[in-house]
Amino acid sequence: MAEKMRALQYTTVGKAPEIVELDKPSPGPGEILLKITAAGVCHSDEFVMSLPQDVFTTMGWRTPMTLGHEGAGVVAELGDGVTEFAVGDSVAVYGPWGCGVCDFCVVGKEMLCPHVVELGIQAPGLGSPGAMADYMIVDAARHLVPLGDLDPVANVSLTDAGLTPYHAIKRSLHKLTPGKVAVCIGAGGLGHMAIQILRALSPVTVVALDIAEAKLALAREVGAHHAFISDDAAVESVRALTGGVGAVAVFDFVGNDATAALAGKLVGPEAEISLVGVGGGSLAVGFGIGPWDVSVRSPYWGSRPELMEVLELARSGKISVEHEVFALADGAKAYARMHEGTLRGRAVLVP
Ligand code: NAD
Ligand code: ZN
Repeated sequence: MAEKMRALQYTTVGKAPEIVELDKPSPGPGEILLKITAAGVCHSDEFVMSLPQDVFTTMGWRTPMTLGHEGAGVVAELGDGVTEFAVGDSVAVYGPWGCGVCDFCVVGKEMLCPHVVELGIQAPGLGSPGAMADYMIVDAARHLVPLGDLDPVANVSLTDAGLTPYHAIKRSLHKLTPGKVAVCIGAGGLGHMAIQILRALSPVTVVALDIAEAKLALAREVGAHHAFISDDAAVESVRALTGGVGAVAVFDFVGNDATAALAGKLVGPEAEISLVGVGGGSLAVGFGIGPWDVSVRSPYWGSRPELMEVLELARSGKISVEHEVFALADGAKAYARMHEGTLRGRAVLVP
C-alpha cells in the first residue's frame, strides 16, 4: 500500500481549506521530493479562495488544490538525473515557476515568463501541489535555493513576503536617497518586511500606513520612522514630512481602488508607485493627472537571484520575519486569523 501524507487543500470553492490524506508522491526524472519543514500563509491564498467558481476556473485553477506557495523543506528523495542537491539538504522553494529557457527565465526572472499559460505551468500552491503538506514535489533543481543554517520556520516567508517587496523596492532604489520619504501602505506580512528591506538597503525615511493600530506598532518596531492611520490625514502628514512635495516612492501592499488613489495623492513629481497588493485597484496615468512624470507599476513576486539576496540579508541579521507558528492541521485557523487581521507578521504552518 502506498505511503500516505497529509495536505491542506482548498477542496470546495467558497469553503475553508481542509486537511486531507493523499498518497505520498514520488519524484519523476529531474524532480525532487521535499519533506516540508515550513509553509507560509499569504493573503494571496485568501484572494484565490475568495473568487467565485467561474473566475477561479478562468484563472486556470481547479479544486482540490494543495495550498502553500511559500515553502521550505529537506530533500527527501532525488528523481533520476538530479545532481545539484543531496538528500538531507535544507532548501527553500523558489515559487514563480517558468519555462526555464525564455529571455526572462534564463536570467532568473521566472515570475515574468510569458509562456506559463500555453505550457500549463502553475506555481506550487497556486495550481501545482504546494508546501502545505508533509511532502511536496519540486519540478526542477533550479526552483530550490539552499537555506544552509537559516531556520526554515523563521525564514520560509522570505520566499514571498520577503522576495516580493524586495523586488519592488530594488526597482525604485535609485529614488531612495537621503532626506527623501518612501511610504508602505499595509504593514502585514509583506509590508513589515518592506519596511525592514527599505531600512536595510537605503537611507530613505520610511512611513508606514495601516488601518490597525497594532500593525502601526509593529511597523515602528521593525523600523518605520513614522506610522500613521491610512486615510487622507496621512496625505497631510507625508506632505509635512516632505516640505509639501510628496513621497518619492509608494509601495501599496493592499492594492484596492482606495489605496491606489491614496498612493496617487502621496507622491511628488518623478515618484514611483508600486501596486503590489491584489485588491483589484488601479490608478490612472495621463497628462495632468497627478504630479508630473510619476511611474506606476504592478510588480509580481521576484527573481531567483533576488531570493538569494533576500536570504543573505536575513543571514546577516538585517531583516527577520515576525511570525506566528501553527500546526499544519490548524491551517484553516491561520487563514481565519489572517482574515480577522489579527496576525502579527506572517503565519507559518509546520507539519
Ligand atoms: P496581510 O493580510 O498580511 O497584510 C495586509 C495589511 O494591510 C494588514 O496589516 C491590514 O491591516 C492592512 N490594510 C488593509 N486595508 C488597508 C488600507 N485600506 N490601508 C492600509 N492598510 C490596510 O497581507 P499580505 O500577505 O502582506 O499581502 C498583501 C497583499 O499583497 C495582498 O493583496 C496579497 O495578495 C498581495 N501579494 C501580492 C504579490 C505580488 O507578487 N504582487 C505577492 C504576494 C502577495
Ligand atoms: Zn503570496
